[in-house]
Parts: sequence; structure tokens; C-alpha cells
Amino acid sequence: MVAAETVVERGFDIGELGRPGGIGIRCQGLVHLYRTFEGHDVVALQGVDLTIAPGERVAFLGPSGSGKSTLLTLLGGIQKPSAGRIFLGDEEISRMGERYLARIRSRRVSTMLQGSTRNLLPYATARQNIAFARLALAGSERREVEPAAALLDRVGLGGQADQVVSTMSGGQRQRLALACAVSTGPQLLLADEPTSQLSHEDRDHVIELLHELGDDLGTTIVVVTHQPEVAATFPRTVTMKGGRVGSEGRDGAEYVVIGAEGVVHLPSHLADQWPQGTLVRIEPEDYDRLVVSRPSESDAGQDPEVEQ
Ligand code: ADP
Ligand code: MG
Repeated sequence: MVAAETVVERGFDIGELGRPGGIGIRCQGLVHLYRTFEGHDVVALQGVDLTIAPGERVAFLGPSGSGKSTLLTLLGGIQKPSAGRIFLGDEEISRMGERYLARIRSRRVSTMLQGSTRNLLPYATARQNIAFARLALAGSERREVEPAAALLDRVGLGGQADQVVSTMSGGQRQRLALACAVSTGPQLLLADEPTSQLSHEDRDHVIELLHELGDDLGTTIVVVTHQPEVAATFPRTVTMKGGRVGSEGRDGAEYVVIGAEGVVHLPSHLADQWPQGTLVRIEPEDYDRLVVSRPSESDAGQDPEVEQ
């Protein structure tokens, strides 16, 4: 866990723009409710505490409806939480007025919404889409950012600069959406299932580009995905469950928080193979080490072990 102070120290000044580098995020007790047309409340997030260090890359996982997209829109300043606090650097965006939030969204934080059509102007060309993404930048800021042609080259669309979006393939659109998202030099890039509609080849290309941009610019990156191949490329995973952070993974290992009465959630990839009701054997090997194994009927004693 990164100490909150580390994140706060690297705060930003709203007036200072176009600098590469990532920004830290700190969420405290985030709650979000949606009011339905029928007038009842849906609790999408119920108490999310999360710290992400500047430049860190995190994948959000979890079942549909667990609050991943809601959390992403709150981090991106697109919606405001019903309760709780969000800090980007040392700025509390959960308290900001719409005017400041608009500045944050047009420069500091870029969000790629779910679905390749929602982030682009379909009847405009690739170059026009980048120009549009940069409309809110002042003239001096535009001189600091990468020229559109170089950015398009970087995402492999150098030859499509004047092609209209509606004639592009899904992979090309997602690469263009990524180019638009980074075209303002954001310190935080948020992407909601950026590869879910793509072929494996396009998926790998988009994820490779995302990490390349992260390497070059130091941008903090948060991606929502349900694809294990995508999650595996991220050094940290956060798994959402029922509007809360259910478990965390780092460098392939998964971390869970012990709940009330000693309840521990299984790593999500094992939940299907070890269904509710499975009998497991627990051997406390040591004071701080526990081995959980599933005795198999045929060869008891030779079963694979899972360590927690
Ligand atoms: P995920 O991205 O993990 O699928 P969401 O953040 O989209 O989860 O949704 C979390 C919960 O909030 C779900 O129960 C969903 O039905 C509800 N929800 C999301 N958006 C709205 C909305 N605009 N109005 C009402 N309920 C919503
Ligand atoms: Mg979603």
C-alpha cells in the first residue's frame, strides 16, 4: 500500500498543464447511488477506499454490476459521488464545481468510455477527432503537446489521418480513441473495457500501445476489463464485488481482506472450480502461513495445494 502522503506530495496546480507524468488517486469511503425512474435508489458503490500511486497501472476486474464503470466515471470527474471523497493529487475533485471539473476533464484526466463509438465523432476524420479533443487547450498548451501526425503514427494510423471514423475498423477506432485520450497530455488515463469488442490481435495491439504510452509519459492508467489476458499485463489488479473492493492482486499474487468472523474470499479465478459447499482442508503451517487444499477422492494426499 502506498502511503497517502506520497500521493498528496505530488499534487498539481490547476494552472500547470501539459506536463508528462502521472497523478495519484485517493478515494475515501466512496458511496454512489443511482435514482431510477421509478424513484428507488440503486447502490452502485458502498464504501470504496482505494489509493493509486502516481504512474501506477491498475486493472479493475469484477462481475457485471459490481460498480467498475461507476468508480471509473467518479475518478474521471464525469459524475460526483453521493458521499465520500476523491483526491487527484492534492485536489479534491469530489468537492469541485462544474467549471473546475470541466478543466480537469479537458486536460488532466482522460476517460475512454465503454464502446468504441462513444469517444469519437463518427463523421469526422482521425485528424479532426484529435483537434476536437484538444479544443479546450489554450494556444500555448497546444504547442506543448505532440503534433496530431506524430500521435497518429504512434498508434499506427499515420496513413488514416484523413479517413472518416465511420469507415474504420473496430481496432482502428479504439487506437484512435486512445490517441484522442492522450492527445491532451493527461496525467490519468481511464479506460472502460477498451478491448472488449476487439479481435485478439487488435486487443493485444491496443494494450501494447497503452503500456507504451504509460512508459513514455508516466501516465497513471486504470483500465476496466473482464479479459484475463489484459489483466495479466497489469502489475496490480483490483477486483470489485458488490460495490466494494473485494480483493487486490500484485505481480500475480492475490490479496484479500479478512472479513467479519474470519471469512476469506477465494481468488476470483478459483471461485468456479471451488464452488460453495466444497470441503477444504486447512493446515496452519505456522503463525503467519496457512495451506488450503482440496482433498481429491481418488488420490488423497497428492492434491495440488493452493497457498494463501
Ligand atoms: P459494472 O461496470 O461493474 O458492470 P456499474 O458501475 O455499471 O457496474 O453498475 C453498478 C450498479 O449500478 C449496477 O447495479 C447497475 O445496475 C447500477 N447502475 C449503473 N448505472 C445506472 C444508472 N444510470 N441508473 C440506475 N442504475 C445504474
Ligand atoms: Mg461497466
